[in-house]
Amino acid sequence: MSYLLDLVATSDGTVLPADRPQGLHGGRPLLARYDLERLRREVPRTALQGRPESLWRYAELLPLRDPANPVTLGECRTPLLAAPRLARALGLERLTIKDESLLPTGSFKARGMAVAVSRARELGIRRIAVPSAGNAGGALAAYAARAGIECFVFVPEDTPIVNRNEAALYGAHVFLVDGLIGECGRIVREGAERMGWFPMSTLQEPYRLEGKKTMGLELAEQLGWRLPDAIFYPTGGGVGLIGRWKAFDELEALGWLAGGRRPRMFAVQSSGCAPIARAFDVGGEASPALDHPHTEASGLRVPKPLGDFLVLRAVRASGGRAMALAEERLREWLHLATRLEGVALCPESAFCLGAVQECVARGWLRPDAEVVVFNTGAAQKYVELTTPPPLPHIAHRAVDWQRIAGAAGSGGAS
Ligand SMILES: *Cc1c(COP(=O)(O)O)cnc(C)c1O
Repeated sequence: MSYLLDLVATSDGTVLPADRPQGLHGGRPLLARYDLERLRREVPRTALQGRPESLWRYAELLPLRDPANPVTLGECRTPLLAAPRLARALGLERLTIKDESLLPTGSFKARGMAVAVSRARELGIRRIAVPSAGNAGGALAAYAARAGIECFVFVPEDTPIVNRNEAALYGAHVFLVDGLIGECGRIVREGAERMGWFPMSTLQEPYRLEGKKTMGLELAEQLGWRLPDAIFYPTGGGVGLIGRWKAFDELEALGWLAGGRRPRMFAVQSSGCAPIARAFDVGGEASPALDHPHTEASGLRVPKPLGDFLVLRAVRASGGRAMALAEERLREWLHLATRLEGVALCPESAFCLGAVQECVARGWLRPDAEVVVFNTGAAQKYVELTTPPPLPHIAHRAVDWQRIAGAAGSGGAS
């Protein structure tokens, strides 16, 4: 059932065996390789019919040796929502949101952790650790609990309260680190020897990427094995973007895609932390390391992504762009989607709305383009950012109807 062949180093092409735990090679990530020729001969895409509507339906393109036994919390196939009012507000004829906030623990991080923890359990790993400034820690803690694996999470002190609490809630050992995410990463690397845990840091093991790849597989299947004109995606570590590009490579090799056209990939960042966009602007192949990253979108607080060169390659090959959007306008974009469409767009993805708007205004995107924006997480998790001004109070004995009537008519979206 498994078509996983081995792991290939992005540093120098060295091939490593997949059936033991592996980290980086030459300081760079490994990519899982599948026997796509055999898969192409043996499995038509119609074989997917009737399988569960979750990421596990793509078993042949996942690394599990025993696909019948994944670590799962009931991952759903996330909806593609038409967003006509939002499209109009941004200058487009149509716009679709792929809403990843419905996944367990409220973000697309669940895809990566479901697959990586399943694989870790297969490889006999008993203790794992991760640095996290946002949703990764909670997602890993949940799947680790599900698998019965011990989990350590190291978070910078400015990590949103919900993210700190959820990791602890799922029983992980959570530590607040006086420093940035890079410092947390160093502790996880050093502890691999000292504590005997396996680092699950972004791109430091090869299988979170495989889980995130399923965003691309799922999107293609939902669109009838076609791809849209453009994909807008908030880019922190860049794993989602690299994963989708890998998905499109594999689908193309399998001959599963109708038509060979790839979407233009837009990597969206905040002006407060935009290493990829800066490298893109100057034609660089890697990102500069930033000293003082600042953005309220915690998932984008990655000052020096390990996979920067892979993101930049995919963005350029696709004819897309990497863009930095003004941090000062975050709240404005955040409220657009939540109010106009009822979609709990997370702050990371809210920057994508600014990016779409700018692309249309500058003529980089035609108004009739088919555009997909990924909502990578649930707005409700960002309580620091989404707390409203004090709510009007109504005494329960003497209801002030004038006050209630005064609010009517101001909130409608049409
Ligand atoms: C982690 C995270 C991101 C960034 O994801 P990458 O694929 O690593 O670039 C974006 N949004 C949310 C909500 C996240 O948790």
